[in-house]
Amino acid sequence: MSTETTTSDRAPAPAKGRDVRPPRAGRSNGQWAVDGKEPLNPNEVFKQDGDPLGARQRVIDAYAHEGYDSIPDDDLHNRFRWWALYTQRKQGIDGGKTSQLTPSELSDRYFMQRIRMDGTSLSVEQMRTVGGISKDFARGTLDITDRQNLQLHWIRIEDVPEMWRRLDAVGLTTIEACGDTPRGFLVSPVAGIDPEEVIDPSEAARHLHDTYLGNPEISNLPRKFKTAFTGSPTLDVLHEINDISYVGVVHPDLGPGYDLWIAGALSTAPFLGRRLGAFVRPDQVADAWWGVIRIFRDYGYRRLRNKARLKFLMAEWGPERFRRVLEDEYLGYRLADGPAPEPPRGTADHLGVHEQSDGLSWIGAKPPVGRLSGDVMLGLADLAESVGSNRVRTTPLQNILLLDVPPERVEEARQGLIDLGLDPDPAPFTRNMLACTGIEFCKFAIVETKGLAARVAADLDERLADTDLDRPITVHINGCPNSCVRIQTADIGLKGQIITVDGERVPGFQVHLGGGLSKEGHEEAELGRTVRHLKVAATDLTDYIERIVRVYLDEREPEESFAQWAQRADEEALA
Ligand code: SF4
Repeated sequence: MSTETTTSDRAPAPAKGRDVRPPRAGRSNGQWAVDGKEPLNPNEVFKQDGDPLGARQRVIDAYAHEGYDSIPDDDLHNRFRWWALYTQRKQGIDGGKTSQLTPSELSDRYFMQRIRMDGTSLSVEQMRTVGGISKDFARGTLDITDRQNLQLHWIRIEDVPEMWRRLDAVGLTTIEACGDTPRGFLVSPVAGIDPEEVIDPSEAARHLHDTYLGNPEISNLPRKFKTAFTGSPTLDVLHEINDISYVGVVHPDLGPGYDLWIAGALSTAPFLGRRLGAFVRPDQVADAWWGVIRIFRDYGYRRLRNKARLKFLMAEWGPERFRRVLEDEYLGYRLADGPAPEPPRGTADHLGVHEQSDGLSWIGAKPPVGRLSGDVMLGLADLAESVGSNRVRTTPLQNILLLDVPPERVEEARQGLIDLGLDPDPAPFTRNMLACTGIEFCKFAIVETKGLAARVAADLDERLADTDLDRPITVHINGCPNSCVRIQTADIGLKGQIITVDGERVPGFQVHLGGGLSKEGHEEAELGRTVRHLKVAATDLTDYIERIVRVYLDEREPEESFAQWAQRADEEALA
């Protein structure tokens, strides 16, 4: 899977989307600080019944020797997530059956393994280790996730201890890359090298990684907790849809630091994060994070998993009360008021050749729909070494950056990336297409995604090459309502479902139009709109997108983006 919420920890979709009302008052909602710790559902029971992190030792000591059938259900389907191990979807199960089968019936005897990055770079040695693991244990699979992490498939339980040993040996980890934990941090992929950055968050992110991962005080959260950092003027870490985001700003008196955003999340009830209006100095980053994550632990709603994310607490409290609780109960001091970030400038995908602040260059390149392989990773290691680089980074848009290339080696490095199938200058729809894992490996999927996305993007690039399309149009294809690749924040967001066409049930999509996170030319985040009864069969997707883009090009006002047009257009124009 190459997306981060493709998981068996997903709550079932609420009957109605966009419902961020807090749970009912007048009964226990499982808030530890209010109601006590009595577990109110089976997930809360297993989390209290022994630290889920303890599952690692059982894999090493027992399951890897005794085999898949020796693994009890609570470890297999629950606690393994704390080490980012998930059973993958059994091959050949039709998407229409997804909701009718149990996790055990949907599960294959193989695992997905996620490796967290937290904004660090991969060295040549680490690339070779990951490439080798992919080839030796994962049938050559290797994806970049939408949270900059790496993901492998087809892992056998027997191979897990050796895989973990190799990762440990080069300083990589899988800890808490899934589960109800502090998930992998998004960090600007150009942190520390962008000549225009406001502040370099690398050290802050590293400090959190080194200090808090695996801490039992925060290994039982109500749900996942997502963190993001950026100091780049491109605002490249989706700060509106993380539980806590640090966005680089310059305070008029206190200098560079961060504006704090809290409680953003998508899924079936999308909610954009709220600014607290608080300025966080670099030396306060860890305090603020430790405070916010403990607010979530203590006050988050644990009764229902689909009401447990931090956004539901924020919906009840609002940013003022949230800040007051943070300062009064957790920090013990006041944060300064601070400015909002500047409107975004530049392109957040970081593709192409760019000069770094130290005079070297980074080259950003696109793997097709986020898909690498063990061979490509090994080739990348060789290429990096041969051009004098020892660093690559991944991005939230599933791209890869080769860092520190000397000016005289840039062309050689660029060509080397192309030879590996990593395109530094992809055509517009290929460049702006995201796809989740879909039915290939995900137990929640209803439709196929990655292969379809690659085909649709290539066809659109060909068919629309004759137009004067001068602004990017993002297309995000999701295999189910869970919104792993952000249905509601794309120009064209597609939610996989089975639809009926001429009396036949076929794979298709509900269409969301006109969404977007802040980016150049789109300063404010906005959630896409749906059009009543608008659904498109997978086989008609290219035709539909081509048609709607041509209508946009005909009807748009000067300087109007696709999203702006789609938000105001008549429903007939969008059908
Ligand atoms: Fe996420 Fe896609 Fe799986 Fe749905 S099908 S849970 S959107 S990866």
